[in-house]
Amino acid sequence: MSDTATLLTRRAQLLGPNMTTFYDDPVHIVRGEGTWLWDADGNRFLDCYNNVPHVGHAHPKVVQAITDQAATLNTHTRYLHEGILDYGERLTATMGNDLDTMIMVCTGSEANDIALRMGRAVTGKTGIICTDNTYHGNTDLVSHLSAKKTPIGGAVDWVRKVPSPDAIEPLGGSHEAQAQAFADEIQTAINALEADGHGFGTLILCPFFANEGFPDLPKGFLDPTVDVVRRAGGIIIADEVQPGFGRTGRNFWGHERIGLVPDIVTMGKPMGNGHPVAAVVTRPEIMAEFRNRFGYFNTFGGNPVSAAAAMAVLDVLEEEQLVENARDTGDYALGLLGQLDHPMIADVRGAGLFLGVEFARDGNTEAAADFCAKLVDDMRHRGVLLHSVGRHYHGIKIRPPMCFDCAQADFLVETLDDALKALPV
Ligand code: PMP
Repeated sequence: MSDTATLLTRRAQLLGPNMTTFYDDPVHIVRGEGTWLWDADGNRFLDCYNNVPHVGHAHPKVVQAITDQAATLNTHTRYLHEGILDYGERLTATMGNDLDTMIMVCTGSEANDIALRMGRAVTGKTGIICTDNTYHGNTDLVSHLSAKKTPIGGAVDWVRKVPSPDAIEPLGGSHEAQAQAFADEIQTAINALEADGHGFGTLILCPFFANEGFPDLPKGFLDPTVDVVRRAGGIIIADEVQPGFGRTGRNFWGHERIGLVPDIVTMGKPMGNGHPVAAVVTRPEIMAEFRNRFGYFNTFGGNPVSAAAAMAVLDVLEEEQLVENARDTGDYALGLLGQLDHPMIADVRGAGLFLGVEFARDGNTEAAADFCAKLVDDMRHRGVLLHSVGRHYHGIKIRPPMCFDCAQADFLVETLDDALKALPV
């Protein structure tokens, strides 16, 4: 038996409680191709949410690269192999700014864990600053940055959380004041860490503020923040797990888009199109300091199959011009979303194929959470998969595979329009 109820019971018994699923009627997906997914009953869904199958579900070129390498050899980095080197050279060539050394790992969490430890190794300070509405992963160290639940063992005072920038309620009271207000918050957190004896070492942020609801921020927004961090001798980590690999359409990296030069870049999710591969990229002196202090080895990180999967993703991005597609289709979809007419729409925004609609009830975003949850479920029943985002989960996040096309954008927005008209406000 594999019906939904049976699968849910087996999961609860076997995997433990509190394992979340998406949607009131969880989807049992059995197959994917491009931007489409099929459930066990043969129903087709337009995938407007999953950024991991970056170049499309089950892309034949990525599947072939994984298959060929798996059929030849898979081992670890204590043996010599060209795969990791060829990939590392190609990846770091997309960055500049001396960001030309790399550690390959298996998850974004591991990448951020290493990056934070690099920050500590080079600054000698334990204090970390992140936003108050973020997620960077699940290792012991990284779980201290999560906004949603107190970490096991309790909150620590060497992590300071600053208010994240917001589209509707900008820090400092206006969009013009927001960049300086954000930097001021970071300065306050730096002072507190120094006063408490931890010292300030590292600022970690997603340059697109993806989990924070991706407010539209101008290029240069982080300039005042960079000044504050540099004056304090700190390190900046750009977590590119979500905006990286061209997602935002006009830049390959989110940090490029906002005009930030980070010291360390982390990436994961889209990197292997579903194969578990992630990485940390940094300057040689930071890499050397970390490697000399800790003999880092990761059994699966950088194995030849992972390197082949990741290389194939770069090939397909280029061959199919998917970054350009994200720009053009993203612009088209954003234009359509902007034409939606509904009293609860508070903002429509995004870049490339990372788009969103934020809702508010009588100007109150928290009061729109319920409506947004119903909308997400309703869309699922209409055959379009997306999900919620934002401090109160009061907005929808649209982040399809990069091969999303204009006809699919039409279908998405028409379906959204129907759902919005049908749902009681
Ligand atoms: N950083 C960000 C910004 C993320 O959104 C996530 C996962 N949602 C992670 C890191 C962690 O990545 P992983 O699940 O691969 O450990």
